[in-house]
Amino acid sequence: MEIVSTVATMQQRVSDARAKGQKISFVPTMGYLHQGHLSLLEEGRKQGDLLVLSIFVNPTQFGQGEDFEEYPRDLDRDAELAETSGVDIIFAPMASEMYPKGYATYVDVEGITELLCGASRPGHFRGVTTVVSKLFNIVQPQVALFGNKDFQQLAVIRQMVFDLNMPIEIIGMPIFRENDGLAMSSRNVNLSDEQRQQALVLSRSLATAKRLASVGDIDCREIIATLKKSISAQPDARIDYLKICHQRTLEEQTRVDSDSVLLLAVFFGKTRLIDNGFLLG
Ligand code: AMP
Repeated sequence: MEIVSTVATMQQRVSDARAKGQKISFVPTMGYLHQGHLSLLEEGRKQGDLLVLSIFVNPTQFGQGEDFEEYPRDLDRDAELAETSGVDIIFAPMASEMYPKGYATYVDVEGITELLCGASRPGHFRGVTTVVSKLFNIVQPQVALFGNKDFQQLAVIRQMVFDLNMPIEIIGMPIFRENDGLAMSSRNVNLSDEQRQQALVLSRSLATAKRLASVGDIDCREIIATLKKSISAQPDARIDYLKICHQRTLEEQTRVDSDSVLLLAVFFGKTRLIDNGFLLG
């Protein structure tokens, strides 16, 4: 396994691989790897001949006052995990390599980026689509893997790839959870023990909503009201959003159907966690 930090070297490796007829699979991350990331790498290993993992805490997707500085980082540990997962190349550039002085170009997907996380974090998706476009141009993968954990992000990436005719297959992967139900996230290490315990209300909320929908309680307002009560009962919880939306348009629904996804973003102290799941099926 090789760790590459410059765009020029990465593009050289990719052009060598392509000349040999190799298929490139790609998993973009911000590092501090956990089992969720590793499940993407495992599938990526099956999908391509050359597996590239990027590790880059992208400054342009963090807003003022967000956790860019506190975001956990440990490249040595990530490199060990990546090697055992069969990664061929880690692309881990510095911010100045990705955004050199005079940098001026951004990619903006309209519409679905204005809701949910986009409404709470203005400019977030502009940063995501910009960095992912750049990474796609640098790594030139035929296949890229993303997690359903970031449900809206995946929808935005699919829209961008479609609209900009990027010749890349996007594969969405299931949410990987801890044994007690908490969705794995690099940010979980920033929770206190008490907050970590309280955060279990997220997966419990998903289970409750599914149960209600399955017995025919499909009024979205009622489901949301029930969940709000139990989440607000957690002393450190502050709801950012809690919505039942159509899986493709991400527009809010009034009644649950087979396209309904519950999407949650909740702060526990300073740490903002997200989770989601389909309500029927
Ligand atoms: P991140 O490093 O948090 O930006 O995540 C990198 C990729 O891993 C994104 O496509 C995420 O959706 C995905 N991911 C993060 N957490 C999980 C999880 N618990 N299960 C599956 N995929 C995940």
